Amino acid sequence: MDYTSSLLSFLPGGRRAVGINRLISKLETYLPPEQVERVQQAYEFSAEAHRGQKRKSGEPYISHPVAAANILADLHIDAETIIAAILHDVIEDTPTVKEQVAELFGPAVAELVDGVTKLDQIQFKSREEAQAESFRKMILAMVRDIRVILVKLADRTHNMRTLESMPLPKRRAIARETLDIYAPIADRLGLYSIKLDLEELGFHALYPQRYRVIERELKRTRGHQKQFVGKIAAALRTELGKVGVTARVEGREKHLFSVYRKMRRKRVPLNEIADVYGFRIIVDTPDTCYRVLGAVHSLYKPMPGRFKDYIAIPRVNGYQSLHTTLFGPNGIPLEVQIRTDAMHTVAESGIAAHWKYKTGEKPEGGAQHERARQWLNQLVQIQEGGNSEEFLESVKVDLYPDQVYVFTPKGAILRLPRGATAVDFAYAVHTDVGNRCVAAKVDRRLVPLRTPLRNGQTVEVITNKDASPNPAWVNFVISAKARAAIRHYLKNLKRSEAIELGRKLLNKALTEFSLAVKKIPEERIAPILAELNLKTAQELYEKIGLGERLAPLIARRLLPDTQATEHGSPEPLVIAGTEGLVVNYARCCFPIPNDPIMAYLSSGRGVIIHRENCRNLAGFRKQPDKWLTVSWQKNINRLFDVEIRLEIRNKTGVLAAVASSIAETDTNISHVSLIERDGNSSALILELKIRNRKQLAGVVRTVRKMPDVMKVYRTIA
Ligand code: MN
Repeated sequence: MDYTSSLLSFLPGGRRAVGINRLISKLETYLPPEQVERVQQAYEFSAEAHRGQKRKSGEPYISHPVAAANILADLHIDAETIIAAILHDVIEDTPTVKEQVAELFGPAVAELVDGVTKLDQIQFKSREEAQAESFRKMILAMVRDIRVILVKLADRTHNMRTLESMPLPKRRAIARETLDIYAPIADRLGLYSIKLDLEELGFHALYPQRYRVIERELKRTRGHQKQFVGKIAAALRTELGKVGVTARVEGREKHLFSVYRKMRRKRVPLNEIADVYGFRIIVDTPDTCYRVLGAVHSLYKPMPGRFKDYIAIPRVNGYQSLHTTLFGPNGIPLEVQIRTDAMHTVAESGIAAHWKYKTGEKPEGGAQHERARQWLNQLVQIQEGGNSEEFLESVKVDLYPDQVYVFTPKGAILRLPRGATAVDFAYAVHTDVGNRCVAAKVDRRLVPLRTPLRNGQTVEVITNKDASPNPAWVNFVISAKARAAIRHYLKNLKRSEAIELGRKLLNKALTEFSLAVKKIPEERIAPILAELNLKTAQELYEKIGLGERLAPLIARRLLPDTQATEHGSPEPLVIAGTEGLVVNYARCCFPIPNDPIMAYLSSGRGVIIHRENCRNLAGFRKQPDKWLTVSWQKNINRLFDVEIRLEIRNKTGVLAAVASSIAETDTNISHVSLIERDGNSSALILELKIRNRKQLAGVVRTVRKMPDVMKVYRTIA
């Protein structure tokens, strides 16, 4: 065993890791003793769970979660979050399960640890700016408790501090993710010190050369800078004293990454930025801020266009200050921030400011976002009117998202409305993908197409070039795009089916006169189109297919005058079962292949097939021109709905017995209803999926043999 690490994990007085003593003494300054004791227990548990594990640096693993907890303790975060930080890797890296954490440290802590574990499982790959924004939102959308983010940020900060032990490519990837994702999230939540840490560490790891150049330049100027800053601060204090304002005036340190960002954004050389001096003036009330502004503007001339009032219009993370740039002695620019104490606290620790003021209070774990809400309310109070609404809106979007963010197999992020399904996803990728989707995989597992998607999932759509949208999708898709695309497709589909059927019907009507559509010259069709106000023959076929025009009547008018009175023998229209939406099967008599049938032309609904012995055929006598003879094509291969009625004895288990004996004939029951007649018998109505008469006969035979079935017959109106 490595001697150094064993020394670290078995220090005298127990096996306490570095950092735990520092953590405990920090916590003692703001947490009640019993909560500090809980943290102590969490430490013992975590140290035991991670026992024998080591960081890449060789340190015992427990040093990492303790360091993360230390970062949060500096912000005076509550005990549950501190405990979660200490336990944040036990679910992922040790045999410990969530239930165990819940049992020992309460459900709130278990949820926090679980939340961090889930965040660790998604990875950001893309380098596009817009994708980074979506990824940040995905992360915020995934957490139900904002404290998960706090633990994650502390975890990332410590990982960045110990990045040297990682191999170079990994180091760069982690650094990029830190700059693209985590530092902006810290910024969004106003966690200034964490944001600064992440930026400086990320910058150093990603661009070591540039980091060193800027560092050297700032160091070079630091000597005479200090003197200069002291002089200016004294001058500012004197001026403020004259107008009767007591204020804290301090020189501001420059941060390498913000210098670098300024160079890139404003395209200015390094020495120009290095020669800018920053000051901060902290006072008691917002009113005083504006008085201070007047005073400093009369001491040094302000630079035009550089004044910003973030008190009246706070930044999106709640940040408030007055910013101005002055021409100092010899024209050296002085950047000045003016703010109150309360604004300063928010500027430094953002969301964490909440815990700074509410220590000692018992943490309530229940309501999601309760803390975030309190934080927001507190900010609104601090802002006293201001433009808090815009701020609240923008934070709310992130904390209570009505959107889900999911990955494509290539790692791109798609934003969908909450509740969106795999079909919505498919249409979001492309209309063609939606129209041809047949199945979907979520995180590499096949799922039903109607499955609602969750944040962070990777979704893959399986398509088939011959597939087409299912009308039933309209019932569960959420996105407007998917719904519109499916409706559009179905409308087109119905139209093309109607055209085809109409052509068939017209042809059939014409064969009675030994004619065909093809043989009709255009000049005979044109006057009919004009009369019916139609533009093309297609439109005429469509009207016929939809039953709005009657084929025999149109056919008669297409005849050469000499033939108009002749008659051929009527040929039936052949039904193939594949006509789609323009051929419908009546639900009064449920026709199936080989049943003798007739068809009714229904305006707008196309052709409706009835059995010949259906009572609804009586209408035939009133409107013979609306009826046409049809026949079945041979060997139709699809399922039809059929209804059968059974009279059964009221006994327990009859229903189940009927169902199972039907199942044995390989027939599916799609619907069942039961009507009780009297104490002894009931009518059982079954809707079956049937291929043809032979299969149906088999079913009827089977149930008829059952002792408690008294009568079986097929429904007919
Ligand atoms: Mn970790």
